[in-house]
Amino acid sequence: CYIWLTAYLFLSPSLFSTVNLLDSKASQGELGWISSPSHGWEEISGVDEHYTPIRTFQVCNVMEYSQNNWLRTNWIPRNSAQKIYVELKFTLRDCNSIPMVLTCKETFNLHYLETDEDQGSKFREHQFSKIDTIAADESFTQMDLGDRILKLNTEVREVGPMTKTGFYLAFQDVGACVALVSVRVYFKKCPFTVRNLAMFPDTVPTDSQSLVEVRGSCVNNSREEDPPKMYCSTEGEWLVPIGKCLCNIGYEERGVACQACRPGFYKASSGNVKCSKCPPHSYTHQEGAVHCGCEKNYFRAEEDPVSMACSRPPSAPRNVISAINETSVILDWTWPADSGGRKDVTFNVVCKRCWPGPRQCEPCQGAVRFLPRATGLTNTTVTVVDLLAHTNYTFEIDAQNGVSSLAPTVRQYAAVTITTNQAAPSAVTVIKKDRTSRNSISLSWMEPERPNGIILDYEVKYYEKQEQETSYTILRSKGTNVTLNGLKPDTNYLLQIRARTAAGYGGSSRKFEFETSPDSFSISSENSQVVLIAVSSAVAIILLTVVLYIVISRFCRYSKSKHPDEKRLPFGNGHLRLPGIKTYVDPHTYEDPSQAVHEFAKELEASCIAIDKVVGAGEFGEVCSGRLKLPSKKEICVAIKTLKAGYTEKQRRDFLSEASIMGQFDHPNIIRLEGVVTRSKPVMIVTEYMENGSLDGFLRKHDAQFTVIQLVGMLRGIASGMKYLSDMGYVHRDLAARNILVNSNLVCKVSDFGLSRVLEDDPEAAYTTRGGKIPIRWTAPEAIAYRKFTSASDVWSYGIVLWEVMSYGERPYWEMSNQDVIKAVDEGYRLPPPMECPATLYQLMLDCWQKDRNNRPKFEQIVSILDKLIRNPSSLKITASTASRPVNLLLDRTSTDITSFHTMGDWLESARTLPCKDAFRGVSYSSCDTLAKTSAEICLTEIRPAATCPEWEPSMGITTL
Ligand code: AMP
Repeated sequence: CYIWLTAYLFLSPSLFSTVNLLDSKASQGELGWISSPSHGWEEISGVDEHYTPIRTFQVCNVMEYSQNNWLRTNWIPRNSAQKIYVELKFTLRDCNSIPMVLTCKETFNLHYLETDEDQGSKFREHQFSKIDTIAADESFTQMDLGDRILKLNTEVREVGPMTKTGFYLAFQDVGACVALVSVRVYFKKCPFTVRNLAMFPDTVPTDSQSLVEVRGSCVNNSREEDPPKMYCSTEGEWLVPIGKCLCNIGYEERGVACQACRPGFYKASSGNVKCSKCPPHSYTHQEGAVHCGCEKNYFRAEEDPVSMACSRPPSAPRNVISAINETSVILDWTWPADSGGRKDVTFNVVCKRCWPGPRQCEPCQGAVRFLPRATGLTNTTVTVVDLLAHTNYTFEIDAQNGVSSLAPTVRQYAAVTITTNQAAPSAVTVIKKDRTSRNSISLSWMEPERPNGIILDYEVKYYEKQEQETSYTILRSKGTNVTLNGLKPDTNYLLQIRARTAAGYGGSSRKFEFETSPDSFSISSENSQVVLIAVSSAVAIILLTVVLYIVISRFCRYSKSKHPDEKRLPFGNGHLRLPGIKTYVDPHTYEDPSQAVHEFAKELEASCIAIDKVVGAGEFGEVCSGRLKLPSKKEICVAIKTLKAGYTEKQRRDFLSEASIMGQFDHPNIIRLEGVVTRSKPVMIVTEYMENGSLDGFLRKHDAQFTVIQLVGMLRGIASGMKYLSDMGYVHRDLAARNILVNSNLVCKVSDFGLSRVLEDDPEAAYTTRGGKIPIRWTAPEAIAYRKFTSASDVWSYGIVLWEVMSYGERPYWEMSNQDVIKAVDEGYRLPPPMECPATLYQLMLDCWQKDRNNRPKFEQIVSILDKLIRNPSSLKITASTASRPVNLLLDRTSTDITSFHTMGDWLESARTLPCKDAFRGVSYSSCDTLAKTSAEICLTEIRPAATCPEWEPSMGITTL
């Protein structure tokens, strides 16, 4: 502390000031001091070094003995000073320079006398106390006088502590030759100062050695943080400032004051920080603002700090897409274009059930569930389950943020309208045993909670518990009860029930166990009938043995059958065949094809159709957009395909066959036929209008603009449409992104249906060696090789669509020639993963491209795989480039990362580093095509023998993944 204090004293600028109590130089007139004896000190007028007139006293009685000359000042009030300083300026004659002197001295004495009042001219020597003997540092000689050199001495003496109201000073001369040029009497004080925004008043130090502690008071517009304190030293210096004041809110420290913030600035907290500029979208016109007000249409939530920019509600979410799975739907959307300047955006989903016609919607009721929830969603997806089957719903998704409640209530939302699919009924949950006997049991049950349509019948499957389901019986019942006859007495049976609607079977109930009555007991028997029963039992046992024999022999035969569904049926006691789902009817099977058109398509009046503009060109004529207004229905946007004039009868038939096919379909992911115009010209096919046109062009236009989830949503829609087609027994044969249409909600629908023309029409189709045109790049090898078109070959094409979608419309196999594609695919080459393609999706592509079509997934499985991915988006995070490499790629597994090839060029370039790289040495190529050929020839054919490419394993070309 001492060192610090010393350092402080040493470093701090001198802060003390002095207050004069007496200054002889300031007096122009006679000073009137008392001189005793009167011939001692005499007052004379002179000028100082600046020629200012001054009064001085002098004495020089050196020629006489015993000098004792006193000069007393007037009474000097002490004020508050305790310690007084006396500064004397004088000249003194060198005794040696005076010839013949008698009493010459070179000193004089300084005395003082304290009194409480002025004593006037009363002067008594003995009352005075001596302060000091004053000697000159320099005295002057006769020569100095001649040269007019003034040797002025300055001496300062302290006096104190003073206690009385005032005092006198006295100068005693005992025989010197001295001139008192000036006398100044003063005291020191610590002057008024401002430190750390605290004001410290003028303070007079005490005479003792202790410091005077002084409390500071805060300057205007500030408040005490720590009590401000300083110490005034005896030397009149301020020491050790402690504590501080802080400027109030709305004020900042400028100089030694707290000044109001200027307009456009604010200060919300007290403290010695500067005022801050108003944050974006806020302002203040006044001085001293503690916060800034928000501009019009901007708001600040209660919990928002004042330093935060004012914000506004978000705009509506965008690009809502829906993926319907029976009675559930996954909604997915993109973040609003404007989040209002906030991060706390959440989404609320409102469900409305709608009927055709204007404003025919009401809020969804009852069991509809939202996963994870309907309001306060932080992610841009929600799954809605337990909707009614085959019902229209509108979902309104609005975005909210922290200031939405403050804004005028204009709802910003995006809406999507969907129609749920048919759905199988839910499981039967309540089963009741009504009656049991030795050989039978009666049961009843409740209809499933969600029948999702009219229940056609119930399937009751039962078997002996110990048989472990290896042999079972199936019964069908139209009602909700059944009696099972022909059972073994005293035996445990297990039973399951499931309901069937037009959409198929629902889930099975849980297994229900029951036991028939023992032989000795039957609630329906009479004692008198025991014999009869025994006989009938014997007959029954024989019959049962026969039946079992038949059943077992049929089962053994049937076990060889492939289809698990078929496997079960012959065991059913009822022996009913399952009614098939609605199947597709080939219009060619009609003798008169126009009959087929009118069976499946509605004839429209040309007057109901307004054509607006041409949007594309089809094989048979232009494709236009327009409007369709049917009586008592709302006008809708439609696409109109026209048959150009001068057509042949075959062309007309082929043109309309598309409508005959399309008209059989009713699915949200299949383009919907509105009707046909055949009775007037031009002949037209009218379908729903798809605002975004075909998928390949749409993706190219929006390269890299969608989230993976959005792409998967689109793919899920396509897979769902294809599942529907394959369930109906329709093989598309030309599934490609160019034949998928996209509407304004990003819903993808399968289009381009036809018969012979399907492939003729497609510019991608090429003639194969066996005749017939085929879109080589999209078609499965078996379909190219021997025209084996099946749903499994559609799955191959779906894999190519998957690749097209994930690469935003890239051309499959880039510039390779069709022949090279056929060859490379046959050899086992598969397209590499598109850039940033999730590993799971690439795996799905590879599965679709299995050489053996039986190993490819079914569309139903594809839909459920994609649903799982949508439900668990984190599974899409690992991209193919970071995942472990699939094994059925043609390229070497260990030395090259195929996943990094996004172009043919990349792929081929890297082929130089493959095990077959030696074969590339010296090979030059001029185009992708020739390089592709070269690489295919070198790597895929010639270099394959293990001797040349040691790491190559031919068996890995195609492997079940
Ligand atoms: P298509 O003859 O079916 O291949 O159709 C030719 C072109 O017309 C397509 O590539 C689309 O750009 C456009 N088009 C066909 N159908 C529709 C539709 N329903 N909505 C919008 N554009 C369509």
